[in-house]
Amino acid sequence: MKKSTSKLTQSIHEGSAGDPIYGGLVNPIYPSSAYDYDTLVRYPRYFNTPNQLAVVTKMAALENGEDGLLFSSGMAAIMTSLFALVKSGDHVLFQKDLYGGTHHAALNELKRYGIEHTMADVSDLSKFEKAIRPNTKIIYIETPSNPLLKITDIKAVATIARKHKIATIIDNTFASPVNQNPIDLGIDIVTHSGTKYIGGHSDLSCGVAVSTKRLIEKIRASAMHFGGSLDAHTAYLVERSLKTIVLRVKQQNKNAMAIADFLETETKVGSVFYPGLKSHPDHKIAKRQMPGGFGGMLSFEVKADPDKFLKRLKFIRKAVSLGGVESTVAQPTKTSHAKLTPQERKQFGISEKLLRLSVGAEDAHDLIADIKQAL
Ligand SMILES: *Cc1c(COP(=O)(O)O)cnc(C)c1O
Repeated sequence: MKKSTSKLTQSIHEGSAGDPIYGGLVNPIYPSSAYDYDTLVRYPRYFNTPNQLAVVTKMAALENGEDGLLFSSGMAAIMTSLFALVKSGDHVLFQKDLYGGTHHAALNELKRYGIEHTMADVSDLSKFEKAIRPNTKIIYIETPSNPLLKITDIKAVATIARKHKIATIIDNTFASPVNQNPIDLGIDIVTHSGTKYIGGHSDLSCGVAVSTKRLIEKIRASAMHFGGSLDAHTAYLVERSLKTIVLRVKQQNKNAMAIADFLETETKVGSVFYPGLKSHPDHKIAKRQMPGGFGGMLSFEVKADPDKFLKRLKFIRKAVSLGGVESTVAQPTKTSHAKLTPQERKQFGISEKLLRLSVGAEDAHDLIADIKQAL
């Protein structure tokens, strides 16, 4: 049968070999860490055991890539991909709005190994291009960004990078492979914190990198040294989660849009940040590069005391992390951006009143009612 290009079908069938011995429908869990080596040397830390490969096959199909690697966390996927492609004396150009973990890894780890970096504002593309140096080896972007849901023009950045022959990495965690496929827009490597939408049930940690066969082999060589592989049992859970990723994320997109529309009309709420809103400054770019939807993440400012608001919420739980089927809310000044100085926060536009909502897959009416009563 011809391979399907539908994400719904891919998420369910890609990488599903089933159970050849008993005729079961789903892939068995293969816990072996030791394999006969006559045909191929299989080993968990070589990133090539059956349950790891089942996830990679699904993810490569969903992201329109050739191959991938399954890691034990999102940071393992990001840092291994970065370190595999640079050496001391090289330069990495990051967009300024980054996930906190990546921001601090750039400051603390890259620097120690003699890898230079710049964090530049990517909303001004000609300025961003000017930050490229002769030794720039990687351009790294992330969109939508955390927590203000800023949108980076993926195709424009990929075009600049190709002109200068620089490899590109994108953190596609917030969008998920359902909403945005950066490889189609010219990006080389897509990474995910699979702890978020890929797992989707707030109960596992993993990371994924998807790219061409050539680049994945290069990253694999370093990954085997750094060792951030995932065990078979968790890999099976990831595969199981991926079968419903389209259903989950479509519902989360719909809910987030409904909540954003409601929040915009609510007088007790200040600014609302959601790329699906026409009022979002980058709505047009988002519409072009997120054909699947605008995602389940949004932020807004409450006019009253944010602590009181958070305490009154019933369905929506206060928690770090995101992307689960259950809605969660976090105050960036106390979580992702706690380490920044007040000046830095002001510069990023992150106030005490800002709340970041990870919209789950519940009934939107219940979520809106919950927010309404808490306001
Ligand atoms: C959570 C997250 C990461 C890091 O992933 P871990 O699985 O926690 O290592 C990276 N980028 C983004 C955008 C994230 O939300």
